[in-house]
Amino acid sequence: MSSSASESHSGGRGKLIVISGPSGAGKTSICDALLERMPDTQWSVSVTTRPMRPGDVSGRSYEFVDQEEFDRREAAGELLESATYVGHRYGTPRGAVEQALAAGTNVIMEIDVQGGVQVAGKVPESIRVFVLPPDREALAARLEGRNTEVAAQLARRLAAADGEIALARDSGCYGHFVTNDDLETTIEQVRSIIQREKAPS
Ligand code: ADP
Ligand code: 5GP
Repeated sequence: MSSSASESHSGGRGKLIVISGPSGAGKTSICDALLERMPDTQWSVSVTTRPMRPGDVSGRSYEFVDQEEFDRREAAGELLESATYVGHRYGTPRGAVEQALAAGTNVIMEIDVQGGVQVAGKVPESIRVFVLPPDREALAARLEGRNTEVAAQLARRLAAADGEIALARDSGCYGHFVTNDDLETTIEQVRSIIQREKAPS
């Protein structure tokens, strides 16, 4: 994931872009591509208590901390939002996001739906996109194909999906729902949503 605060040209504040969706829907694939195609945009590195898994890069995918450190940061008010997802804590460090937005750099964050609801309350002008899988079978196949979760984790993630989708819809916090069927089409759909929302009305 790249960061490029020095390349901001927008003049005003940056836009906060929230990408949510069930595990395996394709959020990380979409965010990685968006960061390559949108040079004035930086990735928000979350903090988590979940163990590292294959493909994770410490300090880039996440900052991996223990429960005590997570609790300390939360109590100190260092997190913009936080949630528990299938037994692990996740949160967004507030400082990096605020600095980037103030410098006119857009920030993209991949957070779960509970976090998305919190951000909608705190940063109502953020752009919030929920990524849906084409169907449950595709979601299961993608998560299995990624081969990063032990069986119990995989089952918990799939079991969580229906509730996450229901909360995303019922909360009214997501302005955009995008079905990730063909990845390239989805990336461009999300990019055009962002461009539209960024354009002055
Ligand atoms: P998430 O971040 O939502 O958990 P990932 O981006 O890790 O999801 O995608 C899960 C798996 O599905 C990865 O192996 C990824 O390469 C694959 N994938 C993502 N989008 C698509 C798509 N549109 N079609 C097929 N496979 C996809
Ligand atoms: P994963 O363990 O697959 O990387 O992420 C699991 C879930 O946690 C995904 O829905 C992901 O979007 C979410 N997540 C990652 N970082 C954060 C964060 O900082 N805050 C919240 N609320 N969710 C996060």
